[in-house]
Amino acid sequence: MAQGKTEPVDRMLRRGQCLCGATSYHVLGALDEAAICHCTMCRRATGSALNVAVPVTTDRVEWTGREKLTEFESSPGKMRAFCGGCGAAVYSRRTDKPHSIRLRIGLLEQMDEITDLYHIYWASRIGWIDRFDALPKNDGEEPGRD
Ligand SMILES: [Zn+2]
Ligand SMILES: [Zn+2]
Repeated sequence: MAQGKTEPVDRMLRRGQCLCGATSYHVLGALDEAAICHCTMCRRATGSALNVAVPVTTDRVEWTGREKLTEFESSPGKMRAFCGGCGAAVYSRRTDKPHSIRLRIGLLEQMDEITDLYHIYWASRIGWIDRFDALPKNDGEEPGRD
């Protein structure tokens, strides 16, 4: 960067919403980092083979319908929030870190802009994750599905 110039402050709002729309949020500023978690608890909590979460401070998130969320304490001090209407996994938080949550990026409209991704609990991954790039790719549903 040239001397004397400052990075523009990102004031853009990123939006996310659950499947039924009862809960939505806006996040202020860039989302540039996400953890791809392969732990067993995240699989069970999300119903998916892996969980992708982006950490944000709570002061950057503005909620609509947050009262529709239910928090489940999956281990001591670890809360996982899901929508009471559709069951979507929305975020997790630790009670000893009250100013931080980890949003599940499947709800985000701008997840493509996340550039810094890394795996956690890699040793717990499902075996076929290693073959992910090589799997057949269909743009719609699988061929032959009724
Ligand atoms: Zn919902
Ligand atoms: Zn996990």
